Amino acid sequence: MTDDQFIGLAIEEAGKSQAAGGAPIGAVLVKDGKVVATGWSLVWPKKDPSAHAETECIRSACQKLQSLDLSGCTLYSTLESCSMCLGCASWAGVSKVVFGAYKEDVPDNPYEVVDYKAEAYSVSLCSPLGGKIDVRGGVLRSECAELMRKIKHWSPVE
Ligand SMILES: [Zn+2]
Repeated sequence: MTDDQFIGLAIEEAGKSQAAGGAPIGAVLVKDGKVVATGWSLVWPKKDPSAHAETECIRSACQKLQSLDLSGCTLYSTLESCSMCLGCASWAGVSKVVFGAYKEDVPDNPYEVVDYKAEAYSVSLCSPLGGKIDVRGGVLRSECAELMRKIKHWSPVE
């Protein structure tokens, strides 16, 4: 499957996230061409600021694989991963992060780092497992941006 197709799966997960009361952000983690785990943004339902789609996906993958080593895996997310999620991916040795919409596609949704760019931030990350994270953004960008159209300050607007 291609990056576009895996982002398509992440978009499906975003819909499930929204149905579960979370923000419409979804993630899938892929190893050897197969989806190992999925994740939804569960910040609101869990009242947990760390429960982003990507961290939920990484947690699930580590449980399923019974490993803290996700090297060789690619994490797909509908939205530009924040510094926490990229940091978590780095701790787990994830090799590549692919995302859809950029933070600029989500009006009035500031990230926790001023002038943040995931691609640039990833350059400064060094995984404890030794690898570097390759980051690619903008895959199915408009479709992923559309998901966030009714989100403002991370809450749904009418
Ligand atoms: Zn995040």
